[in-house]
Amino acid sequence: MVEQTQLFKLQSDDIIQKLTFYSSLEKLNQACSSCDRCSISQKRYQVVIGRGETQPDIAIIGEAPGKQEDKLGQPFVGDSGKFLIKMLEAVRLDSNVYFTNTVRCRPPNNRKPSAEEIKACKPYLIDELRLVKPKIIICAGAIAVAGLTGKKESITSLRGKWLDWEGTPVMPLFHPAYLLRNPSLQKDRPKWLTWHDLMKVKLKLQRISEMNLVDSGQT
Ligand code: SF4
Repeated sequence: MVEQTQLFKLQSDDIIQKLTFYSSLEKLNQACSSCDRCSISQKRYQVVIGRGETQPDIAIIGEAPGKQEDKLGQPFVGDSGKFLIKMLEAVRLDSNVYFTNTVRCRPPNNRKPSAEEIKACKPYLIDELRLVKPKIIICAGAIAVAGLTGKKESITSLRGKWLDWEGTPVMPLFHPAYLLRNPSLQKDRPKWLTWHDLMKVKLKLQRISEMNLVDSGQT
């Protein structure tokens, strides 16, 4: 049997393990709440744990908590998070969603989390996803894509193309803060492209649901 300390090391080293270190989201969140694995812990107001449906169609991974998230202790409650939720509502993808971040504490002055900080927080993210088992994962921005899959290309080249994480389809999107700064809806502009990326998610979800119905003999 793998000891828990060994298992944490294996997860940290990204060796493929389908085991979870924590047996439930509650236990994971409890551990996160007092975490000091990386230096951001010294500057945060509070740890921002995941929220939403616990058997979701979609899990959305952001970059890191911002000021509002740090204040309220919830992900995707700041301006850019709310904007992404509005986009999901517009395409009716908002009903069964789980929200989380690549790192769970707000980096000082909203700087990008470092590679060491992302690595320190990754075991939480991996366990969280394995526990909630989303049908589809959306990564909002390049940091979220790199944090989950290790792919370090620009979001411009990654967005709109399906990736895979442990058999779950992953759709990279532009970061919503970037969309707020680029509000044009003209063809081929970031916001226009993101609508199309969300429609791909919607279609994929429909196909997965249809396949699940066939597998369960309900058709
Ligand atoms: S960012 Fe993650 S690893 Fe770092 S202190 Fe917060 S919860 Fe722990």
